[in-house]
Parts: sequence; C-alpha cells; structure tokens
Amino acid sequence: MVMIPHQKKESLIEKRVAIVTGASRGIGRAIAMRLAADGRFVVGFARNADQLASLAAEITAAGGSCEVAACDVGDGTALAAAIESVAERHGRLDILINNAGITRDGLILRMSDDDFDEVLRVNLRSAFVACRTAARPMMRGRFGRIVSMGSVAGIMGNPGQANYAAAKAGLIGMSKSIAKELGGKGITANVIAPGFIDTDMTSVLPAALKEAVLPMIPVKRFGSVDDIAAAVSYVASDSAGYLTGQVIAVDGGLSM
Ligand code: NDP
Repeated sequence: MVMIPHQKKESLIEKRVAIVTGASRGIGRAIAMRLAADGRFVVGFARNADQLASLAAEITAAGGSCEVAACDVGDGTALAAAIESVAERHGRLDILINNAGITRDGLILRMSDDDFDEVLRVNLRSAFVACRTAARPMMRGRFGRIVSMGSVAGIMGNPGQANYAAAKAGLIGMSKSIAKELGGKGITANVIAPGFIDTDMTSVLPAALKEAVLPMIPVKRFGSVDDIAAAVSYVASDSAGYLTGQVIAVDGGLSM
C-alpha cells in the first residue's frame, strides 16, 4: 500500500474524511471529485496507482484535499489495514463509499465457481470488511455516512449476471442491517443503485444490447458519472441524517 498525501496533516482534522473505493476511474473518480468539491478530505483507493495519482493531482488543482492509496479491496486484510491507517492518521473517519466493483458475466449454466466467488469477493465481501472496519471510528465520532454502490441488476436481476446481481442484492440486505444496528450512533447506511452509466464497465457491452435498453429508460439517455456523484453527495452529507436503510435508484426511471 502506497499512501500519497496531498495536503499537510494539520489542515485535515476539521474536514470530514471520506474514503472512496474504486476511485481511479468511472463513477468512483467522479464521486471523489465531487466530495472534494463539497469540502471533504477524500481518500481514494484502487489498484491503479497512476490513475490514482492523476486523480489526486486533479483534486489538488481544483483546490480540494486528498490522499490516495493503491489497495486491492478484494484483499480483506490489506483493505482493513488501509482503512485503519486513515482513521488513525487523521483521527476520524466520517464517510465510506463502497464503490469498487467488477463484472464476470456469463449465463448461469456456464458460470464458474471462480467467477461467482471473485465477483462476491470484490463487490460484496470488500464492502463488508470496509463497513466493519469503518464502524469503530465512525462510532467514536458519533457520525457516519456509508454509501454502497448497488445496481439496478441487484433489484431487477439481469440475464448473464447471477453473480453480480447476487452481490448487489447482498449490499442491500447488508446496508439495511447496518442501518438498524448503527442508526442510534449517528451512522447511516444506504445503497445507490445506478442504471446504465457511461463508463469503462458499460463500454464493453454489445451495441445491440445498448440499443435495446435505451427505449426502456424513461429519460431516454444513459446516465453520466456526475448523475451518480450528485446523489452520493447528498446521501453522504450532514443534511441526510434521517435517510437510512434506503435503496435509491439513479437510473433514469429504468427500474420503476
Ligand atoms: P469501472 O470499471 O469504470 O471502474 C471500476 C472501479 O473499481 C475502478 O476504479 C477500479 O480500479 C475499481 N476496482 C475494481 N476492482 C478493484 C479491486 N479489486 N480493488 C480496488 N479497486 C478495484 O466501473 P464503474 O465506474 O462503471 O462502476 C463503479 C461501481 O458502480 C461498481 O460497483 C459498479 O458495479 C457500479 N455500477 C456501475 C454501473 C454502470 O452502468 N457503469 C451500473 C450499476 C452499478 P482499479 O482497476 O484501478 O483497481
């Protein structure tokens, strides 16, 4: 794990500290940029150190403060250590965005155990480890905002995504349980469920599939990463203390 600080420590203490997993690109990067613009001290995790360094430079250039750490969230020991290190060094942890995710699509008859386990490990187990580790410093601060990135697939199911939909549905049950356990400590837990968002993840989908999906989206467009970041900004804000255990679909109306 390589930590790259981008602002002096003494100035960090007053800001809310927000960890964003999968911050190197796509939705997570937009969330990191948005939370930094909201005045949070952002800590970005992902595996690609070069993309993280460019994120840190972009946030700093925009006047925000952040640090980034190369971390494989599928490695629970490394992830827990990285989160503990953030909470220890800054004396607080306020916001956790469980965003890192992968797909290993395939029809159920052909889906391997490895493809199932890997998607559950990166998309669900990592969020469990992160929530468990973050809960302690959040309880100490009597404040916490946990936002996990679900998917419409976790609500509606999707052919070829039994593993992915299971992981995303799992995030919903886990978040509701955490909301019930920790609500009295000032900690909320919610799921944002994006529809089709233009990122690397969806760029690999066949054009025919995209053409078939578009008419089913009431707002008649794919979403942008900023559509998701705007929703996360609110759910992670101090103002959202009465919002917990919810699944907020940001999908242009696809899942209604
Ligand atoms: P991308 O594929 O564009 O980005 C995925 C991010 O997750 C990257 O930053 C990647 O960083 C990180 N990541 C993946 N595996 C790991 C790992 N083992 N450890 C640390 N970081 C990891 O995906 P999106 O931005 O599109 O998706 C973000 C989230 O939103 C995911 O949870 C996805 O399931 C969800 N989502 C996306 C939708 C869409 O239409 N795009 C729709 C619904 C949900 P790196 O490779 O550097 O490790």
